[in-house]
Amino acid sequence: MRKFKGNEIVLATHNQGKIKEFSMMMKPYGIKVLSASELGLAEPEETGKTFEENAILKAKAGAEATGKVVLADDSGLIVKALDNAPGIYSARWAGPEKDFTKAMNRVNEELGCNVDRRAAFIAVLAMVWPDGYVVSVEGRVEGEIICPPRGEKGFGYDPIFQPNGKDKTFAEMSAEEKKSMSHRGIAFEKLIENYFA
Ligand code: IMP
Repeated sequence: MRKFKGNEIVLATHNQGKIKEFSMMMKPYGIKVLSASELGLAEPEETGKTFEENAILKAKAGAEATGKVVLADDSGLIVKALDNAPGIYSARWAGPEKDFTKAMNRVNEELGCNVDRRAAFIAVLAMVWPDGYVVSVEGRVEGEIICPPRGEKGFGYDPIFQPNGKDKTFAEMSAEEKKSMSHRGIAFEKLIENYFA
């Protein structure tokens, strides 16, 4: 099984929230994160039907463009009572202006008075080498949608997601605390364990 041995990795995203979280997670391993924004990489259209397909297509496009090992994250919020929406469309619910207040309001409007507020965040991380070799891992965290939103930290849907067993939303947690239980933190641990030398 192939393992990543380098000291820098390209992260195929322009999302500042993801860049911050990955930079923090890679730091203890001495790995520098180069973002797609820094390298001026185009954002490929997310034509996949699953988180995994989208993560792989983003990482492959980055590896082809840079000739380096590329990590991509495709993630999103799934809400049980909304038939798992917004799911892979989580970023698209915020529109071209990336307005997550609008996206969070839509989740709460569509849920209405529904008592079933169960939700989960999912992240699939794909790592692709320049020769096209692919590995991927998934992380998932269960929780509930809360209304009104609470907290200023994090990004995206963090202010409306409260993990099970906690009385704080992701947006009320420090980056370290969120990492210890988040979909991205869980997926990252799997990636390190299985695919880093
Ligand atoms: P994509 O992976 O680029 O399709 O975008 C994923 C979208 O899901 C983000 O833009 C966020 O809206 C949402 N999302 C993914 N992970 C998180 C998270 O950790 N907190 C809050 N929102 C997230």
